[in-house]
Amino acid sequence: MDKNYDKDRNYYIFLTKNSGGVSLGKFTFSYYKAIDLDCSIAHEYGHTKQSRYLGPLYLLVVGLPSLIWALLHTSKTKRSYYDFYTESWANKLGGVKEENGILIWDK
Ligand SMILES: [Zn+2]
Repeated sequence: MDKNYDKDRNYYIFLTKNSGGVSLGKFTFSYYKAIDLDCSIAHEYGHTKQSRYLGPLYLLVVGLPSLIWALLHTSKTKRSYYDFYTESWANKLGGVKEENGILIWDK
C-alpha cells in the first residue's frame, strides 16, 4: 500500500521541499515544513474536491486563475493569498480558515 495514498478519500498526499502547495486531480503536494501542515494538506484536499466537482473545467476555473494569482501574489500584496476565490473555496471545502497568514481548523 502506498503510504502517500489516502484510501478513504481516494487521493495522494506528497510532501515536498518546495514551499507552497499544488493540487492536480488526485495528487496533492504540500510543503513538508509548513507550520500549518495538517491544515495545508486539508486545503489541498479542498482543491481535489473542486477538481471532482468541475472535471476538466477545473483547469480553467481553478487551475489557471490560481496559478496566475500565485505568481502575482507576494509578501507585499495587501490582500491575503486566501482571499482569492479559488483559495477561499478550497479552504471551505477542506474545513480550514486563515488566521494571521496561516491556516487553522474551522470549527
Ligand atoms: Zn490553494
